[in-house]
Amino acid sequence: MLIVMKPRATAHEIDAVVDLITEIGLRAHPMPGATRTAIGITGNEGPIDGRRFENLPGVAEVIRVTKPYKLVTLDLRPDKTVVRVGGATIGGSELAIIAGPCAIESREQAFAVAKTVQKSGARFFRGGVWKPRTSPYTFQGLGDKAWQILTEIRDTFGVKIVTEAVEESHVDLIEKYGDVIQIGARNMQNFSLLKRAGRSKVPVLLKRGMAATLEEWLLAAEYIMAEGNYNVILCERGVRTFAQHTRNTLDLAAVPAIRRISHLPIIVDPSHGTGTAYMVTPLARAGIAVGADGLMIEVHNRPELALSDSAQALTPAEYAQLIEEVHAIRNVMARAGCGLNAS
Ligand code: PEP
Ligand code: MN
Repeated sequence: MLIVMKPRATAHEIDAVVDLITEIGLRAHPMPGATRTAIGITGNEGPIDGRRFENLPGVAEVIRVTKPYKLVTLDLRPDKTVVRVGGATIGGSELAIIAGPCAIESREQAFAVAKTVQKSGARFFRGGVWKPRTSPYTFQGLGDKAWQILTEIRDTFGVKIVTEAVEESHVDLIEKYGDVIQIGARNMQNFSLLKRAGRSKVPVLLKRGMAATLEEWLLAAEYIMAEGNYNVILCERGVRTFAQHTRNTLDLAAVPAIRRISHLPIIVDPSHGTGTAYMVTPLARAGIAVGADGLMIEVHNRPELALSDSAQALTPAEYAQLIEEVHAIRNVMARAGCGLNAS
């Protein structure tokens, strides 16, 4: 159920609807938009009788939601969500670049990469503290020791820190020392982790599961939003197919497909999406051309020495060139009037 308020509905009228929703044991999600506020309702297992809301002051319309998701949709919020992280934004007019190594390996490595990333204008630095590795015998990340390095990087370069929470207790540490909680592909349907991230005030970057349909991905975002955290960024990172020329198949059609359904920002990760350094730049260009709000790119000062995802890491020089190219593409798109919003 979705309650659309009249454009001139007062804060008092909106509060009265929210109070009634709470009083009947449900949860209200008011979403202010450019022209009106809509209020999503969750917590019901069966249908709700919407007629009780119809005559409340300020209510324009009561809409039954027939789709499986309620909060991620353009029905609730026709304007794109712009996620704000300090002064940086994802989903607005600026191209969001999240770059850094797969994992934080040492102070020297992290600083060398952070310097490159900041020089290119990126506002977000990524780097795994805890790594979800396929094999238990490979490098699992520095763990808590990485926070000292990340804290220094944040202070020195003024970048926002994006790192993956592999389990619920990691969210506490990201809330303390980081800026964006990444939920990885392997955990896209770890529902207790999603709910924990949903109770956080920190924005969440939700990667697509490697075998997830768009509906499953959006329902994972719904888990986070249903807990009250509306700052969700989707990240397409490729899915498993029969193809053997890439690590994953980067599904760029997901970008316009998501735009048609959801107000959430969406970025593309061509590093995990291809698994091979020489393909990262071409697919990054394509990701921007298809309308993504930003990119996640893995960079290493010495890719040949990287302790994880070595084959897909760009050198600082390759990364700098990529950034120049994607900005040029974005500028052409802006001049050509390409719609970067819902299509
Ligand atoms: C990562 O970003 O380092 C990562 C592990 O990505 P994914 O969850 O997409 O595999
Ligand atoms: Mn990686």
